[in-house]
Formats: sequence, structure tokens, C-alpha cells
Amino acid sequence: MPRVCIHWFRRDLRLTDNSALHHAVRSSDQVIPVYILSNWQQHHQWTGPARQQFLCGCLESLAGNLAAAGSKLVLRQGCADAELEKLIRETGATAVFTNRDPDPFGRAMEQKVAAICTRLGVEFKSFKDAVLHEAGEVLTGEGKPYRVYTPYSRNWLSLPKAAPSPRVKSFGAAATVSSLQLPTLKTWSLNPGASQLPDPGERAARDRMKQFTSSAILGKYSQHRNLPAGRTTSQLSQDLRFGLISIRELYARCMAAGNDASILTYIKELAWREFYMAVLHHWPEVLEHEFNADFRNVPWPGEDTAFEAWKQGRTGFPIVDAGIRQLLATGLMHNRVRMITAMFLTKDLHVHWRLGESFFMQHLVDGEIASNNGGWQWSAGTGADAAPYFRIQNPWTQTKSYDPEGAYIKHWLPELAHVPAAHLTAPPLRPLSPDYPLPIVDHSIERDRTLERFKHARIKQ
Ligand SMILES: Cc1cc2nc3c(=O)[nH]c(=O)nc-3n(C[C@H](O)[C@H](O)[C@H](O)COP(=O)(O)OP(=O)(O)OC[C@H]3O[C@@H](n4cnc5c(N)ncnc54)[C@H](O)[C@@H]3O)c2cc1C
Repeated sequence: MPRVCIHWFRRDLRLTDNSALHHAVRSSDQVIPVYILSNWQQHHQWTGPARQQFLCGCLESLAGNLAAAGSKLVLRQGCADAELEKLIRETGATAVFTNRDPDPFGRAMEQKVAAICTRLGVEFKSFKDAVLHEAGEVLTGEGKPYRVYTPYSRNWLSLPKAAPSPRVKSFGAAATVSSLQLPTLKTWSLNPGASQLPDPGERAARDRMKQFTSSAILGKYSQHRNLPAGRTTSQLSQDLRFGLISIRELYARCMAAGNDASILTYIKELAWREFYMAVLHHWPEVLEHEFNADFRNVPWPGEDTAFEAWKQGRTGFPIVDAGIRQLLATGLMHNRVRMITAMFLTKDLHVHWRLGESFFMQHLVDGEIASNNGGWQWSAGTGADAAPYFRIQNPWTQTKSYDPEGAYIKHWLPELAHVPAAHLTAPPLRPLSPDYPLPIVDHSIERDRTLERFKHARIKQ
């Protein structure tokens, strides 16, 4: 009897250096590749059209790559455990291979699938793939998780890193099992969101990775990465999120590119990604609460009208509004501007960080639960190794430091294209343009209110 296995694709939508897939083809005569579409419809706190649209493109590309390798992507929709059980029974598969998901939701589903496999007498094999080091691998001398990034990153950097495995070229005979059509936004009753998403799929992502690791952008990363205008960063976060590129290959390409300060700075950013995944792994309650228990009683009296203005990019703070407009148009936002907009929402508008966190998750094409939660709690001053609550960024001086010519602002706010750059770095007394609002708050007043809010919450404990 030929040995038939299932490879359950999740956030690893590629054929190159895919750990579980590599092992599945080596140990089987036939591998059935499956992706299970979620069932959720329209109103979901944690996702939205940008990521689903990108996913559709990635699945189309994956189906094409599998067809070129003589295989066929099987698509099913529903709860992964029930759908995999059906597929095991239909195909007589004797093993299910998958790459481990770092999120609590993905891990919970893995446990359910593993239990079904045990009941059916089928092997369940899961592999490390999304990260260089899983949460349990980077621990303090006492075997405890790190609460602070710097010692975590020192330990993370010192650990040996796995080398990439080759691209899978053959899957055995193509499966004859039934499959749904490739999904579109209509699958989830969604309307299109951002219109300028990155190109989806493994090929496009590999091109971006190769271009970045061989270009001057990597060489100048430590100098330019905080400047939001132009391409100053890798722009690979959505590719890591969907597993269109492998973290091992990205790391190996960076190491091959040289050993200078810029490359080390970049690799340390990859460690931030894994630090936040480790925080979420060890403290899953961060999705509900402030990581720092001192701040669980801080009040968030922000008004709905202020939140609405922020969501529409109409706060009268050009750097904040430009960031939101970039997000709505592209599903992405530069990291420096994510920090500025998040700090503005929580510290100037006093809106709860969880509302901003959820809005970002609905719009980001790279939406990653761990990094997003980490970034929001960092900005709110409540997170693991967060900005201290009293260090409140001033959006006007941030503009002066990081967008001094106003190039980023003018790109995303064309109504300000003719405003002299110097007028974008201090609160204006008159409207900057007829179509653009005056600032909805005074930063220095709101800053003081925030300091009071945090101080009182601490004293009350
Ligand atoms: C409020 C807020 C929300 C965020 N939400 C997300 C999110 O949902 N998904 C996401 O991938 N990143 C998130 N980040 C982190 C960061 O903004 C993005 O990873 C980065 O902007 C992506 O662009 P890039 O690929 O060009 O980054 P680069 O500067 O080229 O960095 C390289 C890679 O390192 C990782 N990285 C960089 N900075 C961080 C960071 N601060 N935390 C975690 N990983 C990092 C990313 O995987 C990124 O692709 C958030 C940051 C903040 C402040």
C-alpha cells in the first residue's frame, strides 16, 4: 500500500524551505496538500478584507506552484478539525503533517487535530517553521520566560540557527479528492478594502526578499529605518505573516550579505517578532489585559467622536492622519508611524489600546496577533518592556525628526501638498488647507491628563 499523507497548510503558503512539507514528501508516496478556509462572515474583530484579499492571491499562487509540481491544492471550508477528519476518512491518509502556529488559537486547533488523529490511529507530526526559536527555547538561566527584550535578544542571537531545506519539487501522484474553488472576498461576504496591497504569493515575496537582502536598503537599515518616506525597511512583514518566505532563508541571506551594524540591527528586529510571540505564548492573557498589572485600572475616557476622527485620518495631526491613510490604502503602515498613531490614540485621545489593536488587526495585511498586541501595549505603556508611561511622544517633534521635509505626509495627505514643511511640525493656528481639520486636541494638555490618569491608577492599587 502506498503511504498517503496530508500536509495541512496554514501560515506556510510556500514550497521552498517548508519544514513540515519537506518531511511529508520525504516520508510518503503521496502527499495531499490541503488548506482549510475559515467560515467567519464579515463582522470580525480580528480580521478584515485586506488580509483576506491577500490570502486569496497567496492561495492562487500556491495552487499554481503545486500544479507545476504535479500536485493539486485541496480547499475545504469550515472547522479545521472536522474537515481534516473528513479528509483522512476520504483518502485513507495515515499521517497529517503541519507547521506549528505560534498563536494560542492555532495551537488550540492543533491539539484538537492531534486528538482526532490519535482517535483514528493516524500519525500527527508538527514542526517548528514560523520562527527561528520557539517560545520554550529562549529562557532565562532559571528556565523562566523573559519579560524584557534586551536579555531575550542576547540569548536569541547566541543560539545556533537552522539552515534552510530545499524547495519541494514532487508530491507523488496528484490527489483525486474533491476541492472547493479558489476563494474570493465573496467567500466571506466582504467588500474590497485597501486598493494598493503588496503583490501576493511566494514568487512576489521571494523577489521582495532577494531585492531587499541584496540592496542598499539593508546596508543603510540602521540609519534610515525610522524614516517613513520611501522604502527604508524590508517590507516583508506580510510575507513572514503568511509564510511566503521562510525565516531561516531570510536569516541566511542576511548573514550572507555581510556582518555590519545594519544587518545586526535588522536581525534584532526579527528577534522582536519572536519576543512578542514568546510573550503571547507565556502570557496569553495579554490579549485581554495589560501585561503590566500596575496599569490594569487605568481609565480610558476617550470619546467615540475622537476615535472616529482617528480611524478616518481626520485628527488634524498630519503625521497621524498620513499613517491612517497609508493603512487604509495599502494595509500597511511604517513602524515609526504605527508607534506615533498608537501613542496618539492612547495618550492624546485617551482611547483604550484594545480598540486600536482591533482596528489595526482589521486593516493590516501583516496583522500578527503577537506583534500587534506587543506594539499596542508598548505604545500604551502597559506592555512587556514597554515605553514608560511618562515617555509620551509629541507628534509634532516626531514629524520634525522623522519626516522633516514632509514627504511622507504630503504623499498620503495630498490636500497638504503645498503646505511648507515647517508648518507641519507645530500646531497650526489656522487650517493648513480648506479640506483639512484643525488639530482636535492640544497635545500638551492631553499629555498632562495622561500622566494624571496613570499616576492615579497606580496610587489606587
Ligand atoms: C502599534 C503597532 C502594531 C504593530 N502591528 C504589527 C503586526 O500586526 N504585524 C507585524 O508584523 N508587525 C507589527 N508591528 C511591528 C512593525 O511595525 C512591523 O513589523 C513593521 O512595520 C513591518 O515593516 P517591515 O517589514 O518593513 O519591517 P522591518 O523594519 O524591515 O523589520 C523586519 C521585520 O522584523 C519584524 N519587526 C520589526 N519591528 C517589529 C516590532 N516592533 N515588533 C515585532 N516585529 C517587528 C517584522 O517581522 C518585520 O518584517 C506593529 C508595531 C506597532 C508599534
